[in-house]
Amino acid sequence: MPEPADQKNDVLRVDFQFRRELAEKVEGNLAGFCYQCGACVGDCPSTTYSSEFNPREIMLKVLYGLGEELLVEDSIIWQCTNCYNCYERCPQDVKPVEVIISLKNMLADRGFYPEAVGKIIKTFEETGRTTPLSPAVDRQRARFGLPPLEPVPMDEIRKLIEPAPD
Ligand code: SF4
Ligand code: SF4
Repeated sequence: MPEPADQKNDVLRVDFQFRRELAEKVEGNLAGFCYQCGACVGDCPSTTYSSEFNPREIMLKVLYGLGEELLVEDSIIWQCTNCYNCYERCPQDVKPVEVIISLKNMLADRGFYPEAVGKIIKTFEETGRTTPLSPAVDRQRARFGLPPLEPVPMDEIRKLIEPAPD
């Protein structure tokens, strides 16, 4: 018996535009080699502390091209700590964390990022560092026999972060 038209429309379709956009951002584009073994989940600290976050499920959504579930305001993607445990564990060398970082970049391009990330971006634009320096940092370095940190060459940083001319 043929399915009603509205039921047919419920079928998930691969979003090839999303997959193409992501492929351009991930070096090597190895996401397609993920065979869903789950090895990336075992040592993931975000999975330990969040009932929602799971790198295997994120990779599955990437494989299905479900960009509309990942590239949303308040995306679960931001729960990844960038610890790279999944990079070490993946038997397929898929580098899930690098896929996730590329998804974060795609979210930021769309203007979707947490307030805390916005503060880091602002600090970086102003100082070339992701956290502001304080005298306490130099005191701590001195305790370990390290010299004070050199100022960041902001001219060079600005050249790197300025938008490219059209
Ligand atoms: S990303 Fe790697 S470790 Fe994670 S499910 Fe896929 S193949 Fe397994
Ligand atoms: S990099 Fe992200 S996804 Fe990978 S193990 Fe760490 S927190 Fe989990």
